[in-house]
Amino acid sequence: MKWEENVRRVVPYIPGEQPKERNIIKLNTNENPYPPSPEAQRVLRELTEDGRWPDLRLYPDTDAAPLVRALAEKYDRRPEEIYVGVGSDDVLAMCFLTFFCSRRPVLFPDITYSFYDVWAELYGIPYEQIPLDENFCLRKEDYFRENGGIIFPNPNAPTGVELPVSAIEEIAAANPGSVVIIDEAYVDFGAESALPLIDRYDNLMVVQTFSKSRAMAGMRIGYAMANERLIRCLRDVRRSFNSYTMNLPSILCGAAAVRDDDYFRSICGCISETRERFEEELSGLGFRFCRSRSNFVFARHPDFRGEELYRALRERGILIRWWNKERISDYLRITIGTSRDMREVARALRDIVEHPEAC
Ligand code: PMP
Repeated sequence: MKWEENVRRVVPYIPGEQPKERNIIKLNTNENPYPPSPEAQRVLRELTEDGRWPDLRLYPDTDAAPLVRALAEKYDRRPEEIYVGVGSDDVLAMCFLTFFCSRRPVLFPDITYSFYDVWAELYGIPYEQIPLDENFCLRKEDYFRENGGIIFPNPNAPTGVELPVSAIEEIAAANPGSVVIIDEAYVDFGAESALPLIDRYDNLMVVQTFSKSRAMAGMRIGYAMANERLIRCLRDVRRSFNSYTMNLPSILCGAAAVRDDDYFRSICGCISETRERFEEELSGLGFRFCRSRSNFVFARHPDFRGEELYRALRERGILIRWWNKERISDYLRITIGTSRDMREVARALRDIVEHPEAC
């Protein structure tokens, strides 16, 4: 027998490129263009400068209590209703392992975060990808049927389209027998959170992240909020997997960032305003896109292939995301950077659109 026969083989998720060049306008992974909260930066300095290094000798709190407490205060929940992990990818992977244990298929859209099918494959979970409508909107009725769980981002990724919370409520109400997970990675840029619904639907969970709206992708912090019973299930599975997922600097800096609500609101506000101005520029250049409620836009131009535009921008030092995938191969996903970045992108796109022969 060969060892290959006994080994798990998977097709991994491919994250956006992290180029080494510094002089690139990097708008391909929905990072925040602003620095993390000054409060989080202060805590990190204190941790290294004030002789507190010895704290790192010890294992961190297994439940990341200081961070959970800060989140509980911010969202007016009890700590028992919050779970934290190493980025929302870690939280979502744990959710798949914990809640999607049925023989019935887990449902998610055909165009969505491309990690969902990777986790389903990894854990051997049956799943069905439900087509979005022609405007990339999720039809709630498609989720009113037997299933082993439901997950989708709101706003959706990579489209940026928001589903009204009233539709999420109907989906949760129609599926008391399965867990419904709303991935709110991009909710802070102008969409409405489903969080208030967790008091009414004991099968509903909301997952958020520090990577986008709190400008801390490098710290790797994500969290889930739901009723105490769901959170306990998640914690028990995690404790059967790894006792100490969260490192001490992330716990302490994360707590400081959550308490700095003014900074959080100001950077989210800047990004939403920049997005609106950029959308106007795109319209003027003939691009088509759905209204985005996130920190990116998903746009196509009727006269150009997606790949052409992607390559032409790359040549001009601008990195955005493009997928060679059915239904979306003519679309570009452009993260919203600073207003200066977006002026550069608009200038480059104008140049490309007005000189198609150079493409
Ligand atoms: N959900 C969605 C929809 C995302 O786009 C991302 C970012 N790739 C994540 C979750 C994971 O983000 P993180 O692990 O950085 O919290």
